[in-house]
Amino acid sequence: MDYMTARLSIPMSSPDITSDDIAAINAVLQTPILSIGPQIDAFERAVVDAVGAKFGIGVNSGTAGLHLGVIAAGVEQGDLVITTPFSFIASTNAILYERGIPIFVDVDPQTGNIDPAKVAEAAEAAVSSQWSVVSNQRSAINDQRPMAGGRLKAILPVHAFGQPADMDPILNVARKHQLNVIEDACEAIGAEYKGRKAGTLGDMGVFAFYPNKQITTGEGGMIVTNDEDWANLFCSLRNQGRDVFDAWLNHSRLGYNYRLDEMSAALGAAQIKRLDELLNKRARVAGWYDERLQGEELIEVPHIVATTTRMSWFVYVVRIRPPAQRDEVIKRLTEVGVPSRPYFTPIHLQPFYREKFGYQRGDFPVTEYLGDVSLALPFSGVMTEEQVDYVCQHLCECVFHSVRR
Ligand SMILES: *Cc1c(COP(=O)(O)O)cnc(C)c1O
Repeated sequence: MDYMTARLSIPMSSPDITSDDIAAINAVLQTPILSIGPQIDAFERAVVDAVGAKFGIGVNSGTAGLHLGVIAAGVEQGDLVITTPFSFIASTNAILYERGIPIFVDVDPQTGNIDPAKVAEAAEAAVSSQWSVVSNQRSAINDQRPMAGGRLKAILPVHAFGQPADMDPILNVARKHQLNVIEDACEAIGAEYKGRKAGTLGDMGVFAFYPNKQITTGEGGMIVTNDEDWANLFCSLRNQGRDVFDAWLNHSRLGYNYRLDEMSAALGAAQIKRLDELLNKRARVAGWYDERLQGEELIEVPHIVATTTRMSWFVYVVRIRPPAQRDEVIKRLTEVGVPSRPYFTPIHLQPFYREKFGYQRGDFPVTEYLGDVSLALPFSGVMTEEQVDYVCQHLCECVFHSVRR
């Protein structure tokens, strides 16, 4: 059949659920224990085994895990955390939950991950109070610092799209200034940086299991850490501040209900057994895209850098080069039944952040460029080669027609 006439319906993403996964959830429902039971323990153990960390703490979203990391790092009102504006908004919102102030630094143009040289520069500026050196953090720093008395507490890098950030120089900056490193590994379970697993490189890492992630629990997340005190703190904080070894009704600190239920944990435990298979399937689909799009003049395929010894494909994001127009491409693709999205939309340009911190276009040029040209294509491990063909054929057509002549 002709690609251009046979119309396929292609979802943006799809979970990969087997009959074993469904059976695992059903088995939980035959028991009376639907929360705080054996499933979360099993899931935590499986994740810890898969990534080589000491402790795993299941939570009910990746965002919840990041929030607890920000608390553990000691972030209080006005404290500073260095992070990236090229991310999903949750990574920065977690800082704001504790009234911390994000110090955005721009990203590497190849990977879209936080630029370690700029992290070092921002850390020096923050600790020596040379605020003007930190590029354009206008009202974010200049206005808020006096009332804040904030100290630089942490670095929060994000492994964007499943490719690890350049962690070694970031860890050096952290060591030098005694900062905690919270890895947002929500898009990168199983990814490797110089042979080491994403999520285990800093003081703690967070994975997320929303339905579009590499493995899913519906809603859910997992913190991993090698620090026993932090692990105990996370267990307490996710469960209303109850002390782990204390009586059920003894609340030692302000806590939350961030517990992961047993049905979700059972699904996660079943899914993580197939982590390698799931990642390999996604890598195969990414390969199909690469083959078809490499060499297209106005389409740039993802850059995988040498430090990435294993990619954990979360999304397949191309760049639409001018004079082709990304937004016009999205519109035309929609008309032929192919969904696509700008990804990411820079956090500092989100209305809430503009309003609160006074950011504007021009503050982080690399992030803004990537925000303007990046296009996430339909992607999952269950996509067929025929679907990838269909997307690529239409993408090339739409890109060609989007050029203003
Ligand atoms: C998915 C994701 C999260 C967490 O998402 P939840 O929906 O809260 O599980 C955090 N950061 C990034 C970069 C993500 O992609």
